Amino acid sequence: MKKKHLAMTLSRLEGFRNPKPELEQYRTPGDVAAELLWLAHSSGHIAGRTVADLGAGTGVLSIGAKLLGARKVYAVESDKEALEVARKNAEALGLEVEFINANVSEFNESVDTVVMNPPFGSQRRHADRPFLMKAFEVADVVYSIHLAKPEVRRFIEKFSGDFGFRATRLRTVPFEIPAQFHFHRKRLERISVDLYLFERRSP
Ligand code: SAH
Repeated sequence: MKKKHLAMTLSRLEGFRNPKPELEQYRTPGDVAAELLWLAHSSGHIAGRTVADLGAGTGVLSIGAKLLGARKVYAVESDKEALEVARKNAEALGLEVEFINANVSEFNESVDTVVMNPPFGSQRRHADRPFLMKAFEVADVVYSIHLAKPEVRRFIEKFSGDFGFRATRLRTVPFEIPAQFHFHRKRLERISVDLYLFERRSP
């Protein structure tokens, strides 16, 4: 599968039916998801690996990982409604994903790789923390998406360092959020996000 094809397939998946602002439910656009997954895949972190997608939403990253040959994918999501959409999306492509309806803090499987697009923490401050903490607990390699802002970058560096992880900003890319929430004034909100790789430092 080519990156372009992956992006197209992912962008055609069904999105949130009834997005909940307090959970920061906006799906990762197909091109951004494909970019993150491709970076992980090119480094050997997807094919044949066990992968967890924390805050899986409608399943974009889980499905992408499976399409790139992940051995097993756990999709962890607290919102039942979103998980139903994710399940449908995977089924439509004939893919097997293990869906787990739980708060990310309750997830306790060790995996090779975490891929995630956690809440950015713009609605609830520090909403990204439990995601990073869980990712650093269950995997040695984590790919994640965060706001490209100086204060966020400083926080990410420090926080990951405190957990013994080295943070590498792989790319900064545009990310489009449809105006689905009342606090959005434009039709399409264009923001900038950093694609990160976190690797556990050897002891
Ligand atoms: N990863 C998806 C969705 C991103 S939106 C994608 O890339 O498209 C963030 C998701 O995290 C939402 O679906 C939201 O419901 C979920 N979420 C927020 N807090 C959570 C928590 N504590 N535990 C599990 N899921 C959570």
